Amino acid sequence: MRNDLIDLKRVVLNEVSDNFRRVEEVSEQNTLKVLDAMRRLKISDAHFKTSTGYAYGDIGRDKLDELFADIFHAESALVRTQFVSGTHALATALFGILRPGDELVSLTGEPYDTLQTVIGHAVKSRGSLKEFGVGYRELPLVNGKVDLPAIKNFITPKTKLALIQRSRGYSMREPLNVGDIEKICAAVKAVNPACVTFVDNCYGEFVETREPVEVGADLAAGSLIKNIGGGLAPTGGYIVGKSDLVEEASYRLTAPGMGGELGASLSDGRLLYQGLFIAPHVTAQALKAAIFAAGIFSKLGYRTRPLPEDIRGDIIQAIELGSAARLIKFCQAIQSFSPVDSFAMPEPWDMPGYEDQVIMAAGTFVQGASIELSADGPLRKPFAVYLQGGLTFEHAAIAILAAAEALENSSL
Ligand SMILES: *Cc1c(COP(=O)(O)O)cnc(C)c1O
Repeated sequence: MRNDLIDLKRVVLNEVSDNFRRVEEVSEQNTLKVLDAMRRLKISDAHFKTSTGYAYGDIGRDKLDELFADIFHAESALVRTQFVSGTHALATALFGILRPGDELVSLTGEPYDTLQTVIGHAVKSRGSLKEFGVGYRELPLVNGKVDLPAIKNFITPKTKLALIQRSRGYSMREPLNVGDIEKICAAVKAVNPACVTFVDNCYGEFVETREPVEVGADLAAGSLIKNIGGGLAPTGGYIVGKSDLVEEASYRLTAPGMGGELGASLSDGRLLYQGLFIAPHVTAQALKAAIFAAGIFSKLGYRTRPLPEDIRGDIIQAIELGSAARLIKFCQAIQSFSPVDSFAMPEPWDMPGYEDQVIMAAGTFVQGASIELSADGPLRKPFAVYLQGGLTFEHAAIAILAAAEALENSSL
């Protein structure tokens, strides 16, 4: 490692120490929240067993639902490895609740790419909500922020469900903090108390001490291979919120009449429970990685979002690298400093659903798990890389400095 970068690491760590301390405090509080729930609900070895067939009375599955509901301050929860991803959990809730003729709105501008396919209004896709006759409107962001005053006229008595995306996803907008979500939900309910407020909670879990459902969201959903799985969950997703809404979603996951009362636990339950237990700490590792990357790359002259000193709403760090060549080099360095597939060389490719080529680095134990250190970005201006995850800060710091060194050593 170049000496100037070793010195830079020391300078940055010193400068971000207050922000690191804040992250540690949130992690302490969330660890206590999870621990208290596990003690109260008397989690034991018996809950980790696998089950087969219909799996009626699977106590491990039912207890995990209870545990999630407790931690999220929700009436009930549906936590399943049968959800193939976060998108599947979100789509299950949307299809479970919405009926032909209902209106869905997004209050956070354009939703995440994979949800656009689910909704089917901006992009044509088979099996979308649009094909089932669900209407859709979008409230554009103003300077990257939710247009709070406009909600009053945007939501109508007919609006059935309002989608609110907590994370920036892969865009340069700001993530929402839980306080923002509280204001948005209140604004919706002031116009139409029956309108369901639904938060896409991906990348937001445990970044703060409160979660959306406790500040007025009716429902939230996300992925188990991001924050809340702690890096141990092998796959899956969750939905938490009001009992009747979670129940409607459960009928879509399995079948009407069956709901959440069956479905086998095929994977080792310990991974879900233990992953949840360490998730506040792992999320803190990922947050420190993001803060550190912002510090190093802003010192090297790159524009970063958020800035090193900013308080965060999700675990994503955007760094504008300014050219395709630098974006590629950055991702290749992160890949080569990964514990898995370090020998693979990521290349830009035409990913389905994206207009521009995309490059991705993910040398992860769980395929595609973005709570593990990963980096990606579309090959278009401003050639921003989106960096997220890191099971340990130590690993993330090594890989981030390696990426910095690769860029500094090149003439790109
Ligand atoms: C990751 C993510 C999703 C879901 O993506 P999956 O890859 O299907 O888990 C949805 N919304 C946002 C904002 C995300 O970051």
